[in-house]
Amino acid sequence: MTTHPRGAASTLPHDSRAAVGTPEHESLPDRKLASRLASQIMSDLQASQWAVGTVIGSEAELLERYEVSRAVLREAERLLEHFGATTTKRGPGGGLIVAEPSTGAVVQAVMVYLTYTDVSLGDLMAARTCIERTVARAATLHATEEQVNALRQRVHTDKARHELDANDHHVLHTMIAAAANNPAAELFIDVLGRLTARWSYPLVDASGRSEALEASARAHELLVDAITSGNSAMAERRMNAHLTALGDWLGSNRQSPRSLEGVLEPADDLKLGTKVARLIMVDIVERGWPIGEILGSESRLIEQYGVSRAALREAVRLLEYLRVATMKPGPRGGLIVTEPSVEPIIEAASVFLEYRHIEARHLIDLRIGLESDAIALVVERATDADIHGLRTLTADATRVHYEGSVADDLHLRIADLSGNPAIALFLRVLVHLTRLHAPGSSIPEPRRSAIHAESGHAHDGIVDAIAARDVALARRRMMKHLELMPPVLR
Ligand SMILES: [Zn+2]
Ligand SMILES: [Zn+2]
Repeated sequence: MTTHPRGAASTLPHDSRAAVGTPEHESLPDRKLASRLASQIMSDLQASQWAVGTVIGSEAELLERYEVSRAVLREAERLLEHFGATTTKRGPGGGLIVAEPSTGAVVQAVMVYLTYTDVSLGDLMAARTCIERTVARAATLHATEEQVNALRQRVHTDKARHELDANDHHVLHTMIAAAANNPAAELFIDVLGRLTARWSYPLVDASGRSEALEASARAHELLVDAITSGNSAMAERRMNAHLTALGDWLGSNRQSPRSLEGVLEPADDLKLGTKVARLIMVDIVERGWPIGEILGSESRLIEQYGVSRAALREAVRLLEYLRVATMKPGPRGGLIVTEPSVEPIIEAASVFLEYRHIEARHLIDLRIGLESDAIALVVERATDADIHGLRTLTADATRVHYEGSVADDLHLRIADLSGNPAIALFLRVLVHLTRLHAPGSSIPEPRRSAIHAESGHAHDGIVDAIAARDVALARRRMMKHLELMPPVLR
């Protein structure tokens, strides 16, 4: 895969703006501004924890608050609407209204991004094992008797099936995630389950399929028994064994994943622009994400997809927001494939999870599991230069007394150095949300300084354990460090 400095591929030379054509064509600076404004409004939505139905402001108020043109505001509104973050009501008493974010749009954006990272079946199963073990434990502790009954009913129904279907199989996993009552785990398991399904429908004979069907039905039954009886350690162990077996089976049957189209949600109820964007995204994935390649001119794409100019432009807006592609104007222009950015994904996922009332304990539960697995990978993989880089980060953070976002840098670097793109992406979302739940300046001195000093000490200890290549100690120090967080968070 071609690598570019982040964002470089999506930045057009300044003089190309002059080439923007017809009067009804939104100019390029406007589209970039709109993207930025949509991000701004999304983070404002999270910061203020507005309830669904709240009017954030009338058009006139928003134009003044964000100091943008009407064209830019309307453009940003369309992007926010795609993720279901807001709706817009025109006329008196109207304005930008907080809406119920769309699971489908968020899941799709995360899936497309992970596909770009070339996530492997091994990466997906490692992330699944980690998250679903946490989930099995939490479900055992928190499931209501109603939820337990639904799980048992599902096991019963699945046992009677004669066909192996990845979607049917995955339902029980999503039900367990729902019983664990952790919205981030639910979102991540949904994404991971769909992506793993790209390796299913293997080319084996009927008897092989029915053997696999029986094995997974048996595993599900044992798992639900452990959850029902309240044995969280056993539930965790059985989930681990089931996913290990599933990963081995999928890996032994199919070398390369099948099309992304087959595992995305049905497109029936999507808006036309969103549907076209999705067709283009699937096409980009299928071509191996050729950064810099021109997919076609505006008129060629209109013809190819059989849509109106308005629908295509709506699709392009979304692709530009996700940094998947950008429309270069002019006679030699067209829709160019770019390197996607992780930022819009983090924003969309965070808005969605805040809407689902994610709590500090959910974030830390998942972070403990994911970061202790991530650090184990880092101990194995890190070069001396990587470790030197980690030391520089902790020194930089000490210099500013761990005030602000610099305190998170070590966690983000460890996530990236793990080399597992799914774990790295999910940790970025969780660290971002943890920061939103941090109390900021509300902790008085001297407690505040004491907390910062403790973070510094913990971070130094974590890097020492990585440098000593001591997996067990590194895991322990990371876990202890994260366990101290919840009381400090909102
Ligand atoms: Zn299963
Ligand atoms: Zn820390």
